[in-house]
Amino acid sequence: MTPAPEFAGRCALVTGGGRGIGRAIALALAARGADVVVTARTAAEIDAVAAEARALGVRAEAVPCDVTNAEEVACMVVAASERLRPPDILVNNAGMGGSHKFAGHDDALWHRLLAINLTSVYYVSKACVPAMIARQWGRIINLGSIASKAGSRYMAAYTASKHGVLGLTRALAVELLPYHITVNCICPGYVDTPMTDAAIANVVARTHVSPEDARHTFERFSPQERLITPEEVAHVAVMLAGEDARGITGQAINVDGGMVMY
Ligand code: NDP
Repeated sequence: MTPAPEFAGRCALVTGGGRGIGRAIALALAARGADVVVTARTAAEIDAVAAEARALGVRAEAVPCDVTNAEEVACMVVAASERLRPPDILVNNAGMGGSHKFAGHDDALWHRLLAINLTSVYYVSKACVPAMIARQWGRIINLGSIASKAGSRYMAAYTASKHGVLGLTRALAVELLPYHITVNCICPGYVDTPMTDAAIANVVARTHVSPEDARHTFERFSPQERLITPEEVAHVAVMLAGEDARGITGQAINVDGGMVMY
């Protein structure tokens, strides 16, 4: 008899699941039997990912939501729970990049990055945790960054938001420990996604280097001189979501080709 897929009977909610890392994580979990809810603002993208997940033989729903809006988040989690079931596995992946010089920068960018990268993790986790507590099982996987651990030039808002994600990860890991809910953070270096494409385009626009040279600059940030693939990040998310990872909580796992070694 074929064994049941690893995540059969589990429901995963992936924020920012319409493209890039979130898409790869949603499909990797679906490939291992999880039903998935993908959410983001762009309906066409999450619809497409939900269809790809269904083609893998699981149930999948696309629920549009702006994760910076607490009311929309609450409605999205209710819709996900009614259409499938309350999420057992939550992947807080939605995020945005953005660079700026610190002195004289626009406050709006600071507030936007904190809202999308950090406050959204608070809202979505808060909406999902009660059902995990009731079920005495849960996995929360947050997308941090090497910017959760190290500072770099022109990245004050992004770095502060991603340090905040790691801080929230650690605090929740301790608080939710009695309920068999683990909370961990994945910290990638530069990943080959539309977010990095946008960062490369920004460098091209500002410095007039060629797109190829700008891309090589990003590749050379890694000692492996390459971008990480979304699937490499998804591999770690799948590992953290598994039953065998029940002893791993409050951790921040780098997927960065050796850029940061702490
Ligand atoms: P992408 O820009 O490729 O995708 C981001 C996803 O987040 C999209 O689906 C987007 O959908 C969604 N999103 C953005 N804002 C919101 C919002 N307000 N409400 C709901 N969904 C939103 O990013 P990546 O895949 O590259 O990054 C995913 C995560 O990984 C982010 O948290 C990022 O900070 C982190 N990360 C990325 C790295 C990289 O090099 N790419 C490196 C380290 C960490 P939509 O716009 O339709 O809402």
